[in-house]
Amino acid sequence: MVKKRKSFVLFCSSVLVGASLLLPSAVSANMSPGTPEEQNYSVSGFVDHDELTQKLQQIEKNSQGNLELDVAGYSNQGLEIYKAKVGHGDKVVMIQSEIHGNEKTGTVALVNMLQQLAKNNSPKYKELREELTIIAMPMMNPDASEANRRGNEMTWSEVVEDFPQLEEASPSWNYYTYVNDYWDYKSNPGFDVNRDFNPDLDYEPQPEDFPGNSASPGWFITPEAQTVRDVYKETQDEYGNVDVFVDLHHQGQYVVEGTDDEVTLSLSGEFVPDPNTEEGAKYSEYADVYNGDFAKQLNVAAYDALQDVGNSTFNHISLYPQGLDLPGTALGAFALNGSGSVLFEVTGQTQSFGQKKKGQLVKAVETGLFGIVESVADESVYDIDPSVYDEIPATER
Ligand SMILES: [Zn+2]
Repeated sequence: MVKKRKSFVLFCSSVLVGASLLLPSAVSANMSPGTPEEQNYSVSGFVDHDELTQKLQQIEKNSQGNLELDVAGYSNQGLEIYKAKVGHGDKVVMIQSEIHGNEKTGTVALVNMLQQLAKNNSPKYKELREELTIIAMPMMNPDASEANRRGNEMTWSEVVEDFPQLEEASPSWNYYTYVNDYWDYKSNPGFDVNRDFNPDLDYEPQPEDFPGNSASPGWFITPEAQTVRDVYKETQDEYGNVDVFVDLHHQGQYVVEGTDDEVTLSLSGEFVPDPNTEEGAKYSEYADVYNGDFAKQLNVAAYDALQDVGNSTFNHISLYPQGLDLPGTALGAFALNGSGSVLFEVTGQTQSFGQKKKGQLVKAVETGLFGIVESVADESVYDIDPSVYDEIPATER
């Protein structure tokens, strides 16, 4: 239990899960003593699923053919999971948001970005559309987003219905059935979808692989992870490779190491040990395609773009904790399949942070994303010294 707990908390840990399982005093110290209002920040300034649907349809309609919107699949509760494609270049960038439904700035940033990419006819945007194919999956876990929580909405018995071979298996370790002040997974259970991925994209669930743990791959038991996996595979088939994969998250509130500066966002390009090293030997079958240096270059491209803004809060960027081994995350699984992978972890989750600083944080995500896509489009990313990544200041936790 204790072993699992560490990595569970480390990867974009919910402050709230932290609040209930780990750090009750530290967290409550940051929050005013709980009136219902204070514990239930409004999130109406973010985008809900209906608004996302309207916005994406509108962007497509006004894009003069630049943006193609498709329903890639459906959540367990039947909500559309969208895939928006812009550009026709041979370098492929895939970006997703809200795999954790209480981590909402990424969806707003991604919609803003799509709007620009689809409509702007300046030379810069024409070049981006010429050089890149950008595949965006905003709010890929819409049930979690509608519930403003981390997990999707799915019971273990629904999993067994879909995969009868799991009849005798124990529910997976990332199945939530707890109750706390903020949500009730007991009456409405769900899974952490960001532990349901597997580097073997053709994996079929086997009873002996349950309940599993955070250092083992996931199973593609949730329709949300299946949908993203299917889009990833189709893209691989069509373009040969998904060159870049970006996953947009939120974390708790921290400071940049050695300073009093509150972190605006943390970046990372390392989610599993390098298959080319002894430590990563269990992933050796992926050694040929894994490209840790490219992931570092992409992170530095995002970091540099944020440093260039010149406004101090945009400079409070840190490196997310390194040395992880999380093959069940989308980032870990896709990194092993050859995507240069980048994690964004914006400060503050909605229950503890509401929509404070929303405009600024959304802008920070957009800035980092444009840093990545522009550097890939003009190929300057390949000139970046990957070792600069290791100089990004750490996060003090
Ligand atoms: Zn997250």
